[in-house]
Amino acid sequence: MIDKKLLDILACPVCKGDIFEDKEELVCVKCKRRYPVREGIPIMLEEEARIE
Ligand SMILES: [Zn+2]
Repeated sequence: MIDKKLLDILACPVCKGDIFEDKEELVCVKCKRRYPVREGIPIMLEEEARIE
């Protein structure tokens, strides 16, 4: 679980879109990139993101 306040300040590094939590990943509402969370730490790196 990601802290709600942390989710509020996080933004997609690619398009600056808002982020929401989906299962074990953080998803950008705009470009739909999916960022992994490892040991509770969001990995907000373009090269780590998956695109569906
Ligand atoms: Zn994005």
